Amino acid sequence: MRSELARIVGDEHVLPGGERRYLHDATETRALRGRADAVVRPATAEQARDVVAWCYGREVPVVPRGGGTGYAGGAVPLEGGVVLSLERLERVRSFDPLLWRIEVEAGLRTSELRRIVRESGLVFPPDPGAAEQSQLGGNIATNAGGPHAFKYGVTGAWVTGIEAVLPPGELVSLGGAIRKDVAGYDVKSLLIGSEGTLGIVTAAWLRLLPAPERAFPLAAFYPGTAAGCAALERVLGSGLVPAALEYLDAGALALAAPAFPGQVPEGAGFAVLAEADGTDEEATRLRNELVEVLAEDGLGLHAPTDPAGAADVWRWRDGISIAVGASRGGKVGEDVVVPLDRFGEALEEIVAIGRRHGLDAVSWGHAGDGNLHANFLVDAARADELARAERAVGELFALTVVLGGSISGEHGVGVLKRAHVAGQLGPRVLALQAAIKDAFDPKGLLNPGKKF
Ligand SMILES: Cc1cc2nc3c(=O)[nH]c(=O)nc-3n(C[C@H](O)[C@H](O)[C@H](O)COP(=O)(O)OP(=O)(O)OC[C@H]3O[C@@H](n4cnc5c(N)ncnc54)[C@H](O)[C@@H]3O)c2cc1C
Repeated sequence: MRSELARIVGDEHVLPGGERRYLHDATETRALRGRADAVVRPATAEQARDVVAWCYGREVPVVPRGGGTGYAGGAVPLEGGVVLSLERLERVRSFDPLLWRIEVEAGLRTSELRRIVRESGLVFPPDPGAAEQSQLGGNIATNAGGPHAFKYGVTGAWVTGIEAVLPPGELVSLGGAIRKDVAGYDVKSLLIGSEGTLGIVTAAWLRLLPAPERAFPLAAFYPGTAAGCAALERVLGSGLVPAALEYLDAGALALAAPAFPGQVPEGAGFAVLAEADGTDEEATRLRNELVEVLAEDGLGLHAPTDPAGAADVWRWRDGISIAVGASRGGKVGEDVVVPLDRFGEALEEIVAIGRRHGLDAVSWGHAGDGNLHANFLVDAARADELARAERAVGELFALTVVLGGSISGEHGVGVLKRAHVAGQLGPRVLALQAAIKDAFDPKGLLNPGKKF
């Protein structure tokens, strides 16, 4: 196998299947580790196509891999076969700053993409947390969000075209450098969020925006969930449009508070993090309005106006996951979504579910989108705690469906949520999904055992 694949990509780019760094993703604490027969690193879309054709002709599974930051085990090879790592496809194929568009290959890291366009005064708004490692292809395959998805939408909203390898080994273009396209069914959107089960993204055309001149974060603190949720509703009800609208519940706040770059008021049991952006004038006006709305019934507000202070607040926000994980050495978390009017109820229930299973439960996330990162804290070395956490997750998913929500807003189904998809979708929609998979991948070799 390896010598034949080496003819396509070169000897040094076919690695042994035991290369550990390609066998897991960010779900490692949940003891998810795969096995592969080879890791292949193509340098071009044509090489990726030829690898897929070789695999498809020989019934070999292909698992596409981006930065390996996924939280659902999507990039973990479960059934052996070839891990197809897109890391060497990182070219910018074309960049037209004056037309606000760029065409880049799938392996370009998110932070690098954002840096390149920022130098021309533009922004690619999707900002999933692990931007230093995650790749554009992985973001497209999971339709990743992030804090600024509240105002700007998730990754798919910025993708106007995709180049992809489809089974049995064909390179196709869907959409392109165009901002509208209703010719035929929207196959591009089917690939977005398909977690590598329908095709392998090799490049994408993206639309961009002029970067906001200013951005002011504000962190507001409340005694508890009821006051915090009331503040969130006041922001929306006032017609204000912050770029981000985030929250931390009491447990998450307690764990993250020591690193907060300001004063967390005594007795704080809930935090709201918002950001005002726009031109200098727009951002300043919105900031002042947010200060007024958030201060009501609050215990205190931290609202730096200098760029360094603002960066500190976002650095703190990025570190919440690590702070929470460090408290007991492990966490089992899921990213559910609920309708906004059920948000407060979901917050209370998450803590109650944890209590029923003898675990501390904390949550934080993208409040404006109703997207909660609910985490059960565990000692990852204790099998009984992990088992209880998995049962708690089952209850969390059941709760989400009852509340009219979704079992995943950002991280995808991967392998971890497969058993729970049917409960949300129902038999007819599930059958449609199976038919779509079959139409793209009749042999079931693309990322087998994932999504459903
Ligand atoms: C600290 C931290 C914070 C995070 N914050 C966020 C957040 O705010 N919002 C959010 O949405 N997610 C977040 N995530 C999850 C993760 O970063 C995102 O889902 C990210 O977009 C995954 O990209 P990746 O390149 O690492 O993909 P991988 O983990 O490598 O793969 C993810 C899935 O995509 C498939 N895939 C990868 N590349 C391709 C390709 N080129 N073609 C087809 N399929 C492909 C894989 O097979 C797998 O199913 C976070 C993760 C971490 C560790």
